[in-house]
Formats: sequence, C-alpha cells, structure tokens
Amino acid sequence: MQRLLILGAGISGHTAALHAWKKLKGTHEVMVVSPNKNWNWIPSNIWVGVGFMEPKQVTFDLEKVYYKEGIHYRQAKALEIYPEGNSEHKKPCVLIEYTSEGRRGQQEFVEYDYLINSTGPKLNFNATPGLGPEHHSYSVCTYGHADETWKALQILINEMRHGQKKRIVIGTGHGTCTCQGAAFEYLFNVEYILKKEGVRHMAELYWISNEAELGDFGMGGMHIKMGGYVTHSKIFTESLYAERGIKWITQAAVKEVRDKELTYEDLDGVMHELDFDFAMLLPPFSGVGLTAKNKAGADITSELFAANGFMKVDGDYTPKEYDNWSPEDWPKSYKHPKYDNVYAIGIAFAPPHSISKPMKSKSGTPIFPTPPRTGMPSGVMAREIAFNICDRMLGNPEKATRTASMAKMGAACIASAGAGVLDGTAVSMTVYPIVPDFETFEETGRDLNFTTGEIGLAGHWIKHLLHHGFIYKAKAKPFWRLIPE
Ligand SMILES: Cc1cc2nc3c(=O)[nH]c(=O)nc-3n(C[C@H](O)[C@H](O)[C@H](O)COP(=O)(O)OP(=O)(O)OC[C@H]3O[C@@H](n4cnc5c(N)ncnc54)[C@H](O)[C@@H]3O)c2cc1C
Repeated sequence: MQRLLILGAGISGHTAALHAWKKLKGTHEVMVVSPNKNWNWIPSNIWVGVGFMEPKQVTFDLEKVYYKEGIHYRQAKALEIYPEGNSEHKKPCVLIEYTSEGRRGQQEFVEYDYLINSTGPKLNFNATPGLGPEHHSYSVCTYGHADETWKALQILINEMRHGQKKRIVIGTGHGTCTCQGAAFEYLFNVEYILKKEGVRHMAELYWISNEAELGDFGMGGMHIKMGGYVTHSKIFTESLYAERGIKWITQAAVKEVRDKELTYEDLDGVMHELDFDFAMLLPPFSGVGLTAKNKAGADITSELFAANGFMKVDGDYTPKEYDNWSPEDWPKSYKHPKYDNVYAIGIAFAPPHSISKPMKSKSGTPIFPTPPRTGMPSGVMAREIAFNICDRMLGNPEKATRTASMAKMGAACIASAGAGVLDGTAVSMTVYPIVPDFETFEETGRDLNFTTGEIGLAGHWIKHLLHHGFIYKAKAKPFWRLIPE
C-alpha cells in the first residue's frame, strides 16, 4: 500500500484529497496534514466582515468528514520535507508538529510515496510595519479576522449614527500584494452596508492599491465583453467606483501603518500620508516557511523552494524581461523538477513571474500585484494533479499526462458588491486564459468570447448559491463530484 500525503486542507488540498480518495479507496492511503480542523470557505469571509454571515456559516468540522470518508487526518502543521528520506526513514518523509488539543507541540515523521504541497499562503503582515489585526489595520483573510473586523465596523457605524464623520481605507497593505479581488469585494460590501444603515453620507471611502490602474486585479487588466461591447476592465471598474463615490489611489506601496494613519510610496518615490478611522488592508503572501533536507541532513530548502517560500515546480524560472515572457513559462504538471513524486498546487507553487507588468518606484520599491491564484484554478489544478498521481499509484503512469497551466485555463469569479437578497449585486467575470497569450489572441491576449463582465442582482444570487454548493461539495455529501471546481 502506498501513501499520498497532502499538506494543507484548503481549497486545493481538500479538493485533491476528495478526488484522490475516490480513486484510491481500498488500494492506497490518502493522508491529510493541516493545522486547523475547521474547513473555511474563504471567499465568504468578506461577508463575515460585514455581518451578513457568521463564522459558523463559512466553516465546518473537517475531521468529521475525513473520519466518515476514511481519509487519514493529522491536525498538525508540516515543518520540514525530506524528499530522500533521512537516517531513520528510508522512504521520503515530512516532519510534522501537532496543533490538536492534547498533542500540541508533539513532532513526528510521516512517510509518503507521493506528496502534494497545498499549504497556501503565509499572511505576511510583518512585511509592512504596523500592518494587520495585531497592530493598526483589519483583515478579512481568515474567518477569525473577518469576525473581528465586523465588530470594529459596527462600532464605527454607531459613531457615524451619532454624527461623527469617518474615513475608511480598504485595499492592499504592501507593494507586492495579490488578491485585489477580495479587497474590492470587501470595499463594495462596506459601501453597501453603510448605505443600508443610513450612514453612507458620513463616510469617506478610499481604495488604496498597488495596481497600476483600477481593474488590474493582478492579471494586467483585461478587455471584457459586456452587453455586446468590448471595454477595458479599467473603464468598467472606474465607473463602478465613480457611481458609488469611492475615491481611489493606485500605484501605491503602503510602507507603514500607524494608529489611524498610514504612509505610502508612489511610483515617483514620493511618500504620502493618509489618515483614517478604519482600515482593512490585505497583507502580501509568501510561502508558509517549509524547509527541506536531503538524506545526509544538508539543507536543500533553496532546491525545493523559491526565495518567496513557494515551491518550485515545472515552470520556467529563468529571469526574463517583461517583453520576453511567454505562456510557456507557466507550470503545467506542478511536479518538482528533481523529486518527481513531489507536487505543489494552489497558492503553494511558485509562479515564474507576475502577470501584471512589474513596476518599481524611483527609489526601487516594487509596486505591482503578484499573480492571483483564485479558487477555481486552484481547484482545477488540484483535481487534475490528483488524477495524475492516482494513475501513477494505480500502475497506469502513461495516463498521468493531464496538465493545468494557468496560461491554458480560464477562470470565473463572482465578486460580491453588496449582499442583499433583493438589492444585492455582484460582478460576474470570466477570463480566458488567466495568463494572457498574445501569440494566440493578438489583440488583447485573451479570447473575447470567454472574457466577460457584468454586474447585477443575478450575480449575487449565484455567489450565494456557490457558497452553499461549494460547502456541500467540501463536506463530500452525495453526488459532490457533480459540482465543478
Ligand atoms: C478574503 C478572501 C476572499 C477570497 N475570495 C475569493 C473569491 O471570491 N473567489 C475566488 O476564486 N477566490 C477567492 N479568494 C482566493 C481563494 O481563497 C484562494 O484561491 C484559495 O483559498 C487558494 O487555495 P489554497 O488551497 O492554495 O490555499 P488555502 O485555501 O489558503 O489553504 C491552505 C491550507 O494549508 C494549511 N496550512 C498552512 N500552513 C500549513 C503547514 N505548515 N502544514 C500543513 N498545512 C498548512 C492552511 O491551514 C490551509 O488549510 C479569496 C481569498 C481571500 C483571502
């Protein structure tokens, strides 16, 4: 019996575990190591941050699902990978540390035949002094953060009701952040809730972001088909902000957050101060800090991981000028080039470069979004890579040829712009391919038949439906496989 070991039970790791188990049940073992036994549908955290949902509506007990299914689960975090084994273990193994009550802090080696690293991001608040819920800004990246953020927002709303004007700043808290879509959703939901509470006129709303322009979203912006016309995401997004009276600052690297004040640098290298009463600022992401050793015990972390902590896979990591970037640079099999039983998916793999054009301020500060790896591509690569591994484990290596390049893959994203059953809205966007391909689609880099955007109430209903659908699927309830990634 062989073991597939999956590190991280987020959107990608959990998807991989369910699909792999469906194929391997009865023949091989699937084991998941993940530190939090509450599974979180992260896209709905923004709704926790405006009180539309409670944390218990966006989470469930993962342990129960794994127990019911027969998937082995360790509530622990991975610390170190030994892809060649070590003095005690002939087989490759991973050092893990338990986080569960009763075993917290205990360490153990877990052997594997195949490994998927799906540990997602480290929320790197430390990259900007004063950033984050332990300091001077709020976050919606975890359900716990979002819950705290909603409590603070309620106090603010109450003060506005009593006649106090407030400035709210939402966006990215560092020059290299990604996930602008999540901050955008939170901004629009805050705007919606302020209107609903009758205090919108008391609030000045600001968007601050490292994007070159509005609508970049870490994908270099895009031309979209909308109501029969083609427009650019910059124009579309600017009109949404203008309609709602939201001010925006782009090309900004937040350098420091203090009590009710932040400093940001612009591309000219000029520093600006912006004061606020409430700020929700996303952190930059890095890898979670896994290390690696070879059989002799020598450190090989840099062989497995890029400098940002994400795992190297089959991408082309040769440094290249923007003009020389190619869709072929992007990973296809997500397999490590040397250790071919080691894979990384979702946010855990190292992208070869950004998608948006890299920019630096005059003083050298990078100010551009790093590539987003949203739920749909994370789920699709999880499924395809799980199938490839299963084929290898089941003795059919010739079938293990599926690929999931972000340069050949489309994505759909529904960005909530206000959560109301009758007056809510969401921006429904599709993009194909995620990484623009100017060789195939000369004009805009993308196929305009599949790159679209609309805003409306139907989008909100779909977003709400997806919330329930994806949680149903993650609970592995009957016919879960019919719900696509
Ligand atoms: C607020 C917010 C809103 C978003 N909204 C959307 C949206 O509307 N649509 C969309 O498509 N995407 C959205 N995203 C992005 C989406 O959440 C990510 O694409 C997705 O979660 C990535 O999946 P992942 O499995 O790579 O990482 P994650 O889902 O973050 O999972 C990583 C897992 O690894 C675990 N882990 C961490 N360290 C270790 C370790 N050392 N050992 C073992 N396990 C570890 C974590 O606990 C977690 O379970 C949003 C993100 C945020 C933050």
